[in-house]
Amino acid sequence: MKALVYTGTESVEFRDEPDPVVTGSNEVLLAVDACGLCGSDMHAYHGLDARRVPPLILGHEVTGVIQNGARKGQRAIVNPLISCGSCDDCIGGRAHLCATRELIGMRMAGAFADYVVVPENSLLSMPDDMDVAHASLTEPTAVSLHSVNMAERVLHRPVSEARAVVIGAGAIGVLAALVLQSKGCSDLYLGDTGALRRKTAEQHGFGHVYDPLSNEPEAGSFDLVIDAVGSGRTREASSRLARAGGVICHIGLQDDAAGLDTRRLTLQEITFIGNYCYTTSDMVAASKAIYSGKLGKLEWLEHRSLAEGASAFADVHSGVAAAPKIVLFPSK
Ligand SMILES: [Zn+2]
Ligand SMILES: [Zn+2]
Repeated sequence: MKALVYTGTESVEFRDEPDPVVTGSNEVLLAVDACGLCGSDMHAYHGLDARRVPPLILGHEVTGVIQNGARKGQRAIVNPLISCGSCDDCIGGRAHLCATRELIGMRMAGAFADYVVVPENSLLSMPDDMDVAHASLTEPTAVSLHSVNMAERVLHRPVSEARAVVIGAGAIGVLAALVLQSKGCSDLYLGDTGALRRKTAEQHGFGHVYDPLSNEPEAGSFDLVIDAVGSGRTREASSRLARAGGVICHIGLQDDAAGLDTRRLTLQEITFIGNYCYTTSDMVAASKAIYSGKLGKLEWLEHRSLAEGASAFADVHSGVAAAPKIVLFPSK
């Protein structure tokens, strides 16, 4: 098969690889229809992810056609998080917190390829007429949905009445903005330092778009701040933007620098929530929200062939990709 292989820092190669083989009865072979390029794939590309060791096929935001077993021929969306299924967290419906969780495309081969092998219980069904690129957006949408769900439990007012700001107009930030809009939030701001991303965000109506370097909105005025970057500077901005009694959701993992104003958080009773991944029910809810059209037409997705994958990585790396998400399609 053809695959896009991460071969070392800032290097991915489209080349022939052996077809993956199903070894256990609980595994299925999936012919990949589409796989999204994630920020975490970029993190590996930059040589910053110790868990993703080259050579490795990256990619985990995947949808495809099942090739074996009882559901052969059906299309499916993959939940790429693999957990033990038997610990307290797994049994309690929080498999994303399982101590032995794994992710497709991290230590095992991912889906930037013609085929990928996944556990059968990772498969979520999807409607036959669901657009495969939209379906591949289920995983990042689940991340954003999970974050908004966690915020809703502690917000002092409904999201529809809240003033909210999302920092970072990459896919997670954009999807968080779309989830908030779908819940009736109209007093919504979206900040990004990249001019191209701001332009895309403006064109598609993702709230009031601003440049954090020149016109950050009023400090202390937001019920909800979603930091979809996770850097020292964005944590500083989050601490500044949240109002007394407000909520900060921290999804991004860009760096470990300081930045959180813990004194202000304490004095102003601001809740800080770390967000990681999603539950299976978040995945199901995300795919339904996408399919129903609640999150819009998703015309901001960029399609490229897997053969052009190296250019996709390079363009995101150098900041010349205008789309918040590039979806790669095997050319088989
Ligand atoms: Zn992802
Ligand atoms: Zn577990």
